[in-house]
Amino acid sequence: MDRCSACGGTPFYTRRYSGQALCASCFDDSIVEKTRKTISKYSMIGPHERVAIAVSGGKDSLSLLKVLVGLYAPRGNSIVAVSVDEGVAGYRDEALSHARSLAGELGVEHLVVSYKEMFGFSLDEALDWEEEREASSCSFCGVFRRRAIDEAAQRAGASVVATAHNLDDFVQTFMMNLMHGDVARLGWLDPSHTDRSFPLRRVKPFMELYEEEVALYAHQAGVPLQSVSCPYMHEGLRSEVRDYLNMMEANHPGFKNVLLHSSLDVISHYADNSEKHSAPCTQCGRTSSSGLCNVCRMRAAVEEHVKSRAKPSAFGGG
Ligand code: SF4
Ligand code: ZN
Repeated sequence: MDRCSACGGTPFYTRRYSGQALCASCFDDSIVEKTRKTISKYSMIGPHERVAIAVSGGKDSLSLLKVLVGLYAPRGNSIVAVSVDEGVAGYRDEALSHARSLAGELGVEHLVVSYKEMFGFSLDEALDWEEEREASSCSFCGVFRRRAIDEAAQRAGASVVATAHNLDDFVQTFMMNLMHGDVARLGWLDPSHTDRSFPLRRVKPFMELYEEEVALYAHQAGVPLQSVSCPYMHEGLRSEVRDYLNMMEANHPGFKNVLLHSSLDVISHYADNSEKHSAPCTQCGRTSSSGLCNVCRMRAAVEEHVKSRAKPSAFGGG
């Protein structure tokens, strides 16, 4: 029987793409070490920087909180966990309570912001707009969530915000940008890219870790799982891309890892290009690719919808 390649102990997990067998404890250490190396390779977090960690309360973000607090609290970085309440009745409360308790256990400040407070509507209210929506629920929601996280991190005085996107998320996004013909935006995925018009850096310390490895780490670390799913979960193209990539990985171990490195290579050629294709949003001043950012465009559409529903109909009905 193979032994743990680090300590000779009983193997618990084998990295199929590298053939490396690891015992449970060396596996956990490898996750922390791989995260540390990714951060250092792309200069994601500077000494004494205040770091915001986006914590949805799902297993990936709770794991990220645990790993980053373990790595950076001893170095004197101040850390704040930021969570977004999208406003989905019966869904987010459980995850927010997981985020709150882990932040409390780790002694980390926790800031929660809501769509309602930031944009004037909850996700429940916005998605009532069902038929007129042009994007899938998750792409629509994601646009607002990214903005809410940025705002929360800025309010908390952080200079960098870390999200729990893993290798699978990264390559899926890369493929989706290609499929949408959104080549100009590829540069925005560059891990070393800094948006000069925006003072906060966004980093993905788990971007070189397979989703299954993060899930295993979360399980080992006793991170609680959500029992309720979002009723709007509809990822459209993303779930098809995910299934395709998982099928390729099963047939060709290491496929996603190779794709990550090819993606990074392609993306590096577009890093400058993305600056040329971006212009400040005429309404909020944030980066956009067309003069009006997605948040302002979608927000105006939701407000319009809410207003039109509030008007009495020509027949006097509701
Ligand atoms: Fe938003 Fe989709 Fe997450 Fe629901 S599952 S909160 S719609 S991103
Ligand atoms: Zn805008």
